[in-house]
Amino acid sequence: MTKFQTKNLFAEETVEPPCRHIIRVAFASAVDTEFDYGVPDEIWPIQIGQRVEVPFGRKNKLQIGFCVDVVVRRPDTSTALSSVRSDKGRKFKLKTVISVIDKEPLLNAELMDLARWISGYYVCPLGQVLAAMVPAAVKKGAGVKTLQYVYLTIDAAEAENKIDELRGKKQKHIIKQLLERQALDPDSAVELQGVVDVVGCGREPLKRLAEKQLLKIAHKTILKSLPVIPEGISAKPEGHILLNEDQRKALESIKAQIDSDKFGVTLLYGVTDSGKTELYIRAIKKVLQNGKSAIVLLPEIALTAQTVQRFNERFEKIAVMHSGLTAAQRNVQWQKIKSGEAQVVIGARSAVFAPLANLGLIVIDEEHEPSYKQDTAPRYNGRDVAIKRAQLANAHCILGSATPSLEMLTNCQSKRHFTLLNLPRRVMNLPMPQMRLVDLRQGDITQKGMNLISEPLARQLTETIAKKEQAILLLNRRGYSNFVFCPSCKHTLHCRNCDVTLTFHKSKAPRYKRMRTVTGEHMNYGYAICHYCLAQTLVPEKCPLCGKGFAMIGLGSQRLEEELARKFPDARISRIDSDSMASKNYYRLLQDFGEGRIDVLAGTQILAKGLHFPNVTLVGIISADTCLYLPDFRANERTFQLISQVAGRAGRSAKKGTVFVQTFLANQPAIRFAVAGDFDGFVREELKHRKACNLPPFWRLAVVGLRDTDFDKLDAACKQMRYKIDRIIEREALEVTVRGPMPAVISRIQRFHRMQIIIQAPEATTIQRLFSRLRAEPPIRPAVKVAIDIDPINLL
Ligand code: ADP
Ligand code: ZN
Repeated sequence: MTKFQTKNLFAEETVEPPCRHIIRVAFASAVDTEFDYGVPDEIWPIQIGQRVEVPFGRKNKLQIGFCVDVVVRRPDTSTALSSVRSDKGRKFKLKTVISVIDKEPLLNAELMDLARWISGYYVCPLGQVLAAMVPAAVKKGAGVKTLQYVYLTIDAAEAENKIDELRGKKQKHIIKQLLERQALDPDSAVELQGVVDVVGCGREPLKRLAEKQLLKIAHKTILKSLPVIPEGISAKPEGHILLNEDQRKALESIKAQIDSDKFGVTLLYGVTDSGKTELYIRAIKKVLQNGKSAIVLLPEIALTAQTVQRFNERFEKIAVMHSGLTAAQRNVQWQKIKSGEAQVVIGARSAVFAPLANLGLIVIDEEHEPSYKQDTAPRYNGRDVAIKRAQLANAHCILGSATPSLEMLTNCQSKRHFTLLNLPRRVMNLPMPQMRLVDLRQGDITQKGMNLISEPLARQLTETIAKKEQAILLLNRRGYSNFVFCPSCKHTLHCRNCDVTLTFHKSKAPRYKRMRTVTGEHMNYGYAICHYCLAQTLVPEKCPLCGKGFAMIGLGSQRLEEELARKFPDARISRIDSDSMASKNYYRLLQDFGEGRIDVLAGTQILAKGLHFPNVTLVGIISADTCLYLPDFRANERTFQLISQVAGRAGRSAKKGTVFVQTFLANQPAIRFAVAGDFDGFVREELKHRKACNLPPFWRLAVVGLRDTDFDKLDAACKQMRYKIDRIIEREALEVTVRGPMPAVISRIQRFHRMQIIIQAPEATTIQRLFSRLRAEPPIRPAVKVAIDIDPINLL
């Protein structure tokens, strides 16, 4: 639970008379404190979860915050309740609330509890958590139209009489109109615009009638109707699917859990195409039958037309939330959920906060996905928050994955609420694709020069294209090359702001062609871009240090596309990644591929996720090593997941699929096990290693990241932070290992130097204790930016 600290900014004056009601307000600022305000009787009541406007700070600037607690002052005392602490026991004047913003609370009691838990667990100010839980579009009221309505405030007979008394012709006409339309009370009010159009008048006569109290003008807000189901690939109606034996058993177990109305988690471990999604749909049907609602979380990338359509076809009252929506669409969807009009929500990470009442089930597909972790405050993991929310709501939770996270697998063994279910076969008994390892160290396989496609893969590709089947090639790197490098003087282009090399992107825009800088140098046909801060520069044709030509080395999906075009001039090739995906072209490209107008689709990991194309029989992983080089303890796990996921794209029909895995590290266990399709073997091996190093899932991790543009200042702050942490550990006798301060792997981003202190503890509660103490301490000096990451997804 959050530790409340109450401050009041004006301690001098005495209240006269004191407000009877006091609320506690949390702001979306980094200040980890909540503030108390008095509520004038005129605007009482205020409920928890509503936003209010209040004066804040020394200058009393108006600010908006969430009401997070309500206390009533006892009439017999003029002092506040014990929970409101006055400064040094003196009487003080509370500032008062100016206005209430929301008609109804934006968050219900259950979501408020969830917010408090997140604030405590992820060490984040409550106000920031609340701000993150309600979409900005909702707070702004995007897509809301205000319409004016009119109705008579007198009865029909009286109105008839008034018509004769009135002088203005227009006014008479208006009353007649309203009588005709039977607009005699607020419920039967008619749209003002309609009346104005028929009468042919301005607003003036209406205003005058309102002044005479003959009619009233009312405002109503309505939501624009904005459909969100993406157009594009239209899913074919699935017809009636008969579950197979494994699916039936799994569904039985899940249904029993749902009917128990108790909290529980099912980890559904099933290979790609084993029919997990079908089970989610059946489980949701069951929940709806029981009169409850459900949330489905998908990684953003999987929220393509394909998946959304599939759910949309099976459920009527569905709302969709993902980053592709406009602000107005987002608000409309949210309001649909809030009003109960939608009972199934499908969305990305933040949909876990969907304001559904009566929640019965949360499904988290691809539970192992790192994208469920938010990388700005609050740094929550959508999966873990979903489990917590299910617990608070006594709901069931289904986690699905073909490669479950080690954390959840371990939970299934050690925690009472967790059940592991297995779907070991593909539906319709489709065979698993054949996996082929291409060891790139054996030089004769690759030809000389920069070839991304090995000889065996090239042969298979030719065959696939000849058979009119399709292929997916994956290269987990955007751009053309990840180094711009001078071979003669070894000068490499680095980002000015970050400690990384720049990636060269070829440009199709002719304006870059042979451009000259002010100094008259020729430029290369493209630009170098930093993938961290997005800074771009043109690349000179010649190295500025030695005057020789630059070379672009390393791998990139653009280079792959070029090599494909050279080697397979007759094939229809397209590239898909976030660079070529700036627009809706993404859906069109997938549709073209789905309908066979593209032979080979090359791209980054966006291709690995959840797409279903029956005619794909070949998948090539150009470099299985890209993740392994990351200096992170989850590198093996990511590599295994990537290979298995991409492999899952091959052979999703009766045609047999083949997967080529190209690697320089053929002996790496992650690659060996993935090629053998041996998940259990991989898990055993990896767990041994994690255990030996006190890493998750055995121990818990937290990272305190500190950053500043001034290195000396940062260094001093880091030392102080370490000192504080050490003192708390000593005082509380906590079992914790602390490492650092040390530079982060990418030691500078956007001009900020980055240091980290890594904390390991055998129990989550130990980490919680440590941080709740640290939170209560005064901030470190010199002040630098501090980010606390609990259960970090990587250590970069
Ligand atoms: P997963 O989510 O595990 O990848 P899906 O549920 O998407 O698997 O199933 C893959 C495909 O097989 C879908 O097109 C689905 O409609 C179909 N399918 C699922 N279960 C069955 C079944 N028992 N019999 C036939 N087809 C099925
Ligand atoms: Zn940069």
